[in-house]
Amino acid sequence: MDQVADLARLFADGPVAVLTGADISTDSGIPDYRGAGTPPRTPMSIEQFMADPAYRRRFWAGARVGAGPMQAIEPNPGHRALARLEAAGRIDGVITQNVDGLHRRAGSRSVVELHGSGATIRCTECAARWTRAEVLHWFDVANPGYAERYAGAPLNPDGDAEVGELDAVRVPRCPACGGLLRPDVVYFGEVVPPSVFAEAERLVNEAGALLLAGTSLAVNTGVRLLHRAERRGIPVGVINRGPTAADSRASVRIEGGTTETLVELAGLLAPAAPGGAV
Ligand SMILES: [Zn+2]
Repeated sequence: MDQVADLARLFADGPVAVLTGADISTDSGIPDYRGAGTPPRTPMSIEQFMADPAYRRRFWAGARVGAGPMQAIEPNPGHRALARLEAAGRIDGVITQNVDGLHRRAGSRSVVELHGSGATIRCTECAARWTRAEVLHWFDVANPGYAERYAGAPLNPDGDAEVGELDAVRVPRCPACGGLLRPDVVYFGEVVPPSVFAEAERLVNEAGALLLAGTSLAVNTGVRLLHRAERRGIPVGVINRGPTAADSRASVRIEGGTTETLVELAGLLAPAAPGGAV
């Protein structure tokens, strides 16, 4: 495809920085808040979560039931194409707005998780951290039989699921201090930690181009990285279904899914060795 050849030319001036969003994970089966065919949903805000016990019951019950189907989620060929491009020296790193951990699982090494990791839970009082699996085990101890009753419930974005009987749900608390527990992720309206943003900015500063893949660039941090690329005068490429905030600045724009485009791009720039693993 001519368009992918145009995209490949962005890599002429050295390794490229890649910014990914939710759409790169939809082909792994993680629903998108704005995805086609899904009813409009609004992500829970952290203010609601902190202020209202009903939201916390809803969150932990959904997270526990969603953990079943989430275990079956695997990186898709788009994630793996980016890992191949990094191994071939074609990209200097992946900056992602996703909290699903799929880039690292696909083999990417240089990964900046702008919004943190959904696999980590932290105490809002004493800042102790646990894995999500540990905290969900506490949920099971406090709510025997609950996860079994809702097994197979439809999966929502962010590892959530459709659940009920919420009034009776008992929410896990910090075993050290009794404080409220929350995912170690940056919710809408919260600020990306400065050290994390600085690492993302460093990747853009050292890159020959910026490639946006599967993000409409609706979040401010992504826009700041775009502005950083513009100030440096490096070209910007876009792969996305639907419009993005970078369209007017993009020198190459591909309307379409990230998986097929990234696989084709990796085929041009990082061909697999004959007989080698993809
Ligand atoms: Zn605590």
